[in-house]
Amino acid sequence: MQVTVIGLGRFGSSLAETLIERGHEVVVIDKDERLVQKFVGKTDTAIVADATDDTVLRSLGVQDMDAVVVAIGDDVEASVLVCISLMDLGAKNIIAKAEDEKHARILNRIGVQRVVQPERDSALHVADLISYPTLADRFNISEEHAIVEVRAPKSFVGKRIRELDLRRRYNVLVIGIRRKEAVFDQKGEIVDLKERFFAPPDPDEEITDGDVLVLLAPVDVIDDIARWE
Ligand code: ATP
Repeated sequence: MQVTVIGLGRFGSSLAETLIERGHEVVVIDKDERLVQKFVGKTDTAIVADATDDTVLRSLGVQDMDAVVVAIGDDVEASVLVCISLMDLGAKNIIAKAEDEKHARILNRIGVQRVVQPERDSALHVADLISYPTLADRFNISEEHAIVEVRAPKSFVGKRIRELDLRRRYNVLVIGIRRKEAVFDQKGEIVDLKERFFAPPDPDEEITDGDVLVLLAPVDVIDDIARWE
């Protein structure tokens, strides 16, 4: 994929580095030459420029990129201007970082497809780890729904998914099961544990001890899910 990252603060630069490591074609832009310098040799296109200057974005062909990330937090005016220019130029998938709630509201209002608040988002994630210790992971997919990973509670073990009746009881769907399965050698001894992922699982699949259930759940039942035993 081709991705442009504008703004190489801590967030923008970690993101760009990760995307490069994953083999994507990444264009990085910052007005600070020292930050851009760190990407020379890592990517073919590392540009020192003020991204509020339309001609810079136009010359990059942002409309053909798979995603453009605006990682400018402090300078709200610059962040908004760059997002508007990108939209005017026809960029398809704009993801912008907001410094705070006010900044996020502005970006949402002008029509940025995806607004992230990394500090708040990771604080929420850490808070979840603390308040919901049985939840392995959680990812909100809308205001009301989340994908939640939970270790199968003891009372589920040996039951089929359909018997648990989670859809009727909680409005929760089991969309996947992560299971560690033993790999045996010729002597019948366990030599390895291999993870298998069943998605979507058969409604007649039996839950085994150690399974992790991947659920599509309304956010207001997550407290209940965390208390399953
Ligand atoms: P982080 O928290 O991720 O470190 P930050 O919010 O502290 O980021 P910002 O001030 O938001 O840092 O800026 C991120 C980067 O964006 C900086 O390196 C800055 O030079 C760059 N930047 C800001 N405005 C522009 C602009 N108009 N054009 C290009 N780069 C810009």
